[in-house]
Amino acid sequence: MQARPSAPLIPTLHVADIELPRELEALYELAYNLWWSWTPEARQLFASIDPRSWARYRNPVQLLINVEPKHWYALLEDEGFLRRYQRVVQELDDYLACRGGTWFARQQFEGQDGAPGQMGLSAYVSMEYGLHESLAIYSGGLGILSGDHCKSASDLGLPFVAVGLLYRRGYFQQTIDAEGIQQHIYPEYDFSRLPLRPIASATGRDVRVQVALPGRDVVVKLWLAQVGRVPLVLLDTDLPENDPSDRPITNQLYVRGREMRLVQEYVLGVGAAKALEAIGVTPAMWHINEGHSAFLQLERLRAMVATRIDVAQAEEQLQASTAFTTHTPVPAGNEQFDPGLVDKYAAAISEAAGLDRHRLQAWGRARPEDDSFNLTALAIRTASLTNGVSRLNAEVASEMWGHLFREKAPHATGEGAIGSATDSAQPIYPITNGIHTKSWLGMELRELFEDHLGRDWSALLLEADGLSQVDDIPDEALWRAHLAQKARLGAFTRSRLRHQLARHGKSPDELRAVDGWFDDRALTIGFARRFATYKRANLLFSDRDRLRALLTDPSRPVQILFAGKAHPADRPGQSLIRNIVELSHSERLTGSIHFLENYDMRMGRMLVQGTDVWLNTPRRPLEASGTSGMKAAANGALNLSILDGWWPEGFDGQNGWAIGGDGDSNLDDDAQDAADAAALYRLLEDEVLPGYYDQDAAGVPRAWVARMKHAIKTLTGAFSADRMVRDYVERAYVPCSGRRSQPSSVA
Ligand SMILES: *Cc1c(COP(=O)(O)O)cnc(C)c1O
Repeated sequence: MQARPSAPLIPTLHVADIELPRELEALYELAYNLWWSWTPEARQLFASIDPRSWARYRNPVQLLINVEPKHWYALLEDEGFLRRYQRVVQELDDYLACRGGTWFARQQFEGQDGAPGQMGLSAYVSMEYGLHESLAIYSGGLGILSGDHCKSASDLGLPFVAVGLLYRRGYFQQTIDAEGIQQHIYPEYDFSRLPLRPIASATGRDVRVQVALPGRDVVVKLWLAQVGRVPLVLLDTDLPENDPSDRPITNQLYVRGREMRLVQEYVLGVGAAKALEAIGVTPAMWHINEGHSAFLQLERLRAMVATRIDVAQAEEQLQASTAFTTHTPVPAGNEQFDPGLVDKYAAAISEAAGLDRHRLQAWGRARPEDDSFNLTALAIRTASLTNGVSRLNAEVASEMWGHLFREKAPHATGEGAIGSATDSAQPIYPITNGIHTKSWLGMELRELFEDHLGRDWSALLLEADGLSQVDDIPDEALWRAHLAQKARLGAFTRSRLRHQLARHGKSPDELRAVDGWFDDRALTIGFARRFATYKRANLLFSDRDRLRALLTDPSRPVQILFAGKAHPADRPGQSLIRNIVELSHSERLTGSIHFLENYDMRMGRMLVQGTDVWLNTPRRPLEASGTSGMKAAANGALNLSILDGWWPEGFDGQNGWAIGGDGDSNLDDDAQDAADAAALYRLLEDEVLPGYYDQDAAGVPRAWVARMKHAIKTLTGAFSADRMVRDYVERAYVPCSGRRSQPSSVA
């Protein structure tokens, strides 16, 4: 394949036992490039090689390993298959070579004082990446966002490299027992069967770097997940040469023990800088995506000081070339550690970076009176730009963290390029999250987009009113496409419920009853998210009688699908799940409320593509952005949501519904819950149900379909990851890669 002009090309070793006939050799590169995860023709090609293996593993590397050699001979005789193979291989080749140009290549950026700007290589560091369900190195929203960010960075042609951890056991898989109690399963992944390869050194060995821990070095092996044009470097400590107690550092996401969590984040941060250095990749700027990876800054500073530049200048340079994104106002999301622990691990590196213990601790102190080390504070202090992930979130974050900016204001205000970012009223500016549209759009909707907007419809996402031609889609065609996606959700739901109930020991008759569940014509409401208590999954249940009346009117049936995991340590979240499961089993609601276990990206796609209404009921303003509602909107589902996170920016009165108002409320939590629940019921009773069931003789709800079109038009481009990544380029990557240090110091 052709060299790519933008992102670095990183060589890898072979690991998997895959033997391909020469004529089909390109399947190898195809399987190892996660480009297939957002390219339906590529997935169909793999599925057609072995439909059962595809259905079972959804992983082309595993699929190719399993193919019997004689099966290839049959495929080599199949002209249709060969044609499709050629087409997909050509398409990937064109993509990697940027034939037809990219958005990035067409840009001219403005730098400081009106001079031409430029964007060098940007390095992105995140604790998790949600790229595809077969690569379980994500737990939820943050990971999905990082994955979508990489995919759009690839599509837009950015010079971009990402770094994360490779978890041997990933995040837990969830099952729910018959009593509604969440069980945690941690499968062990065999990396040689995943779309991952070890990174190769110039001498053809695998590349390892060392991260110093007290009294020992931990060895870190580097793997590559290729995401279109973007390389994602993944760090793995599960190696025989490591101390047995260090091997599990990269075992599971968000490990519970505080010291192990610190070591995990330390290895992510310090390891990220060492990894890119080891493979000869030199970023012009770094993007710290959430505080977990902030220890990165200590290693970068150490490396700069080691080249004998002046410490103050090194600090300047560090700050100038760093952008930071904060993702949550919830305290648990802002990582804090005991200062003694941080000292234990980070004192040596800090000293080498010219930073004494006292200053290191000061960098991590969120407030003068605090006796803890806060990674968000460290990141803000060592970055020149900090953004939040929605307008509302940026306001809230500015209030939480504004004092840190006042402290560094003399430095920051000297820089024209920062612009509004240094507005002292709101030092944390918004770049609202977005989704990688191609990854979340259902097949039927995608075909309609291709027919009515053109094959290159995704280029329209960056244009104002780019999707206006959605109006030309006939109502019947849009409704039919939606019903097809909904029918797929129905089949998926029944199959999952049958498995769940069989595991609970239900009788054959009880299992057969599942065949009658999920009515493709019934109003279907989806609610899938992490079961953190602030998301208030139970808001809908606050008035059981009113809910029952809503759900069980035979002339206007409603079904609600719930899915989501609670963190293993979050007991209140787990008891919310239990309540919903119990309700779904209660006699009079059976068949209208379902809990689907083990929410993952595949289930997420099914839900956002097939539901009519996407429900979101967080306690304002704790939902920093939320992205699942954006996925639903692109598919024509209507959001029914509290005005929190992205929704105050998205909602225009016509493209969904707002539960409650957007003013500051001084109600206490209970009163707020009651007010929001009342507003939710009223909307369901007065607007949502009547709207959905107002269907013409052909069964098409005309006014509803008009709302669907309006939602697709107004929300798909504005909340796409393409738009988000463009904003990062303009507001963070260009300013941080062009900026030279200025004479003053950090904090
Ligand atoms: C989109 C997605 C999320 C994040 O959705 P929120 O709206 O932020 O809760 C989490 N998990 C999965 C599997 C997703 O697809």
